[in-house]
Amino acid sequence: MNAEELRDLEAQLSEQFDAIKQRGLNLDLTRGKPSTEQLNLSNELLGDISDKALADANLRNYGGLQGIPEARELFSKVIGVKPEETLVGGNSSLTLMYFAAHFAMHLGVEGPDSAWMYEGQIKMLAPVPGYDRHFSVSETLGIELIPVPLLDDGPDMDEVERLVKTDPLIKGIWCVPRFSNPTGHVYSDTVVERFAQLGKVAGKNFRIFWDNAYALHFIDDNAAQLANIMDVCRKAGTEDSVYIFGSTSKVTFAGAGVAFLGMSERNLGNFSKLLGMTQIGPDKINQLRHVEFFKTYEQLTAHMKRHAELLKPRFDAVLKGLEEGLAGTGAGQWITPQGGYFISFDTLPGLATEVVAMAADAGVKLTPAGATYPYGKDPDNKNIRIAPSVPSIADIEAATEVFVTCVKLATVRHWLKNA
Ligand code: PLP
Repeated sequence: MNAEELRDLEAQLSEQFDAIKQRGLNLDLTRGKPSTEQLNLSNELLGDISDKALADANLRNYGGLQGIPEARELFSKVIGVKPEETLVGGNSSLTLMYFAAHFAMHLGVEGPDSAWMYEGQIKMLAPVPGYDRHFSVSETLGIELIPVPLLDDGPDMDEVERLVKTDPLIKGIWCVPRFSNPTGHVYSDTVVERFAQLGKVAGKNFRIFWDNAYALHFIDDNAAQLANIMDVCRKAGTEDSVYIFGSTSKVTFAGAGVAFLGMSERNLGNFSKLLGMTQIGPDKINQLRHVEFFKTYEQLTAHMKRHAELLKPRFDAVLKGLEEGLAGTGAGQWITPQGGYFISFDTLPGLATEVVAMAADAGVKLTPAGATYPYGKDPDNKNIRIAPSVPSIADIEAATEVFVTCVKLATVRHWLKNA
């Protein structure tokens, strides 16, 4: 397009943008949480389980730090470890991740002498774009974050291996291996194999924080599967190098689910000793509710199909809007995820902040640009995370139309500056 054509297009898009602003919209694509319809799928959890709970007085009492045996059995299958390697806790896996990082940093993964902090400025690797709350955990604990690019099949493993080999103060890496937040990528078998080798080349007490938050959260029936990291680590003799996390936050109730953790028995023993300083036992009644509700792993996965039926049309609405509005324009690119909670969109470099601000001006709230990078700084200022699970389809369609207009307008203005 020549400068004159660009100017015409800019005028046309500005007019569209002003018309949208007049509509006084108030839409929100920031919330990576289940919709009310999704929460309703699990309302049976609120039924009466008093007979079962009364059958064993221990359930209502203190104790059982690692969770009730039935819950350990059921949720061990979600994270692919043995029941005796599983701890089932309270409602938040993020809490377990924070404790794991805090304990490693200050109290040691194997007794006080092994605390990371005694070795110097500790670092963790952060595949980017990634989950902001992982990054906040490290930042809060004074752990420096080193970004590593996330490729289509997982983190850039050449870079990961190079870094951990050269710097023994790199003590960990954050991962969302299936339906990564926000890109939706699933780590390939080769990448998982390479992860299992890291424990052999990294500095001492290195730990992989394998946050399998979306283990079951497919939206596409044929979504890629994830290799079992614990099995591969066991073969490589590195089973102590991985901590695996999961929860039912987006399976049952985000505020009242159960979280779980998988580790080698040796790690679990060490972790439990320290966890025992923070609580005498978890909410075992809620664990029982979950076991009674699902009964089997098969029923648990069938339940996820019902979530997919609610989520898929919402994802499709965003993708259709992007496709119709932006395909072939060169004004950005996006990934079609097979699961998870997000669509990751890249503007042209330098434009994300502007697009988010314009959308806000037009009544569509988006996650702040930069949120998917350590310290909130996207060096290319291009990544935007779109979360379509909560709004109605009509609202998603309207919000996507606004988003597309903002992307086009910001891009055309950028092209004009450089024309
Ligand atoms: N891990 C990832 C990758 C997430 O996206 C989220 C929530 O969005 C969480 C963990 C939070 O998990 P929980 O609710 O179990 O604390």
